[in-house]
Amino acid sequence: MLKRFRLEEPQSVAEVSELLGRFGDSAKVYAGGTELLLAMKEGLVDYERLINVKNIRGLKDIKSANGTITIGALCTHHQLETSNPLREKLPSVVKLEQNVANVRVRQAGTIGGNLCFAEPHADPGTLLIALSATMVAEKASSKREIAAADFFVDAYETSLAEDEVLTEIRIPTPGPDARSAYLKFGYLERPSVGVAIALNLTGDAVEDIKIAVGCAGPAPRRVEEAEALLEGKSTDEALRQIAPAGAIAGRASQAISDLHGSQEYKEHIVGVLLKRAFQSAIS
Ligand SMILES: Cc1cc2nc3c(=O)[nH]c(=O)nc-3n(C[C@H](O)[C@H](O)[C@H](O)COP(=O)(O)OP(=O)(O)OC[C@H]3O[C@@H](n4cnc5c(N)ncnc54)[C@H](O)[C@@H]3O)c2cc1C
Repeated sequence: MLKRFRLEEPQSVAEVSELLGRFGDSAKVYAGGTELLLAMKEGLVDYERLINVKNIRGLKDIKSANGTITIGALCTHHQLETSNPLREKLPSVVKLEQNVANVRVRQAGTIGGNLCFAEPHADPGTLLIALSATMVAEKASSKREIAAADFFVDAYETSLAEDEVLTEIRIPTPGPDARSAYLKFGYLERPSVGVAIALNLTGDAVEDIKIAVGCAGPAPRRVEEAEALLEGKSTDEALRQIAPAGAIAGRASQAISDLHGSQEYKEHIVGVLLKRAFQSAIS
């Protein structure tokens, strides 16, 4: 059962930050509520105050300007899966979003809520790491950018300070040679393994490749050692290296044995998905 709580209705990010600072552990930001209210109902967390951020202006837009695609933290998954700028410039994000959860969760749940909750079996963080995205964290008097690769610290833990609000996600606009793909596998409600790849295909050369793995372990991770095996190679040479790259990525996923499968199984699936994601990106 949901315990009684007080609902704050701030109108600005500065007010939200001030409330978070003032009430500390007893208060929490409330966006779509799809994770938060569920966790409260199940008694996993308990907050005296929820700070509703849905009425704050300017956090629900998707903009493309000056080489950057900016996604407001309050954009719902549904907004992302139907966004024309994203369809045109980042189809891998649209495809990922079409496969998040179910229609109800996509209508209410926000990208910011997904990232800040840092639930291990979440999709977007993995692709955002491969796309070299940055997260904009704001509080009353300051604003900073956090690389997506540094945002996820552990299961349910991000590098946001207690009084910081995630306001935007910024993704460098991909150039004409850029390709990216995200593939996941799972048989429960949430994915067991997710793999993302982003690269530039200059002629037949694989350049500026980024690989990230998620869902298998506590938090999504970039895998630079696997990238190094493929960087600068022709597509055929890279395909010959994809098995060892997959083995490295499997180990880097920090897979744990749980209801989703054993550690060995998840590591194997990482390798399978990496090969398919690479083939999809270069095709
Ligand atoms: C049945 C089900 C299936 C799902 N399947 C998938 C799936 O397949 N793949 C996947 O990726 N996800 C999945 N999800 C997760 C889903 O994407 C999230 O529930 C949703 O995005 C959370 O957004 P929200 O706005 O509802 O967050 P809320 O529940 O409102 O908040 C979640 C947390 O984030 C914090 N928070 C929210 N916004 C901010 C902000 N701007 N700044 C700082 N802190 C903030 C809140 O304080 C809270 O701790 C699933 C969820 C459900 C319930």
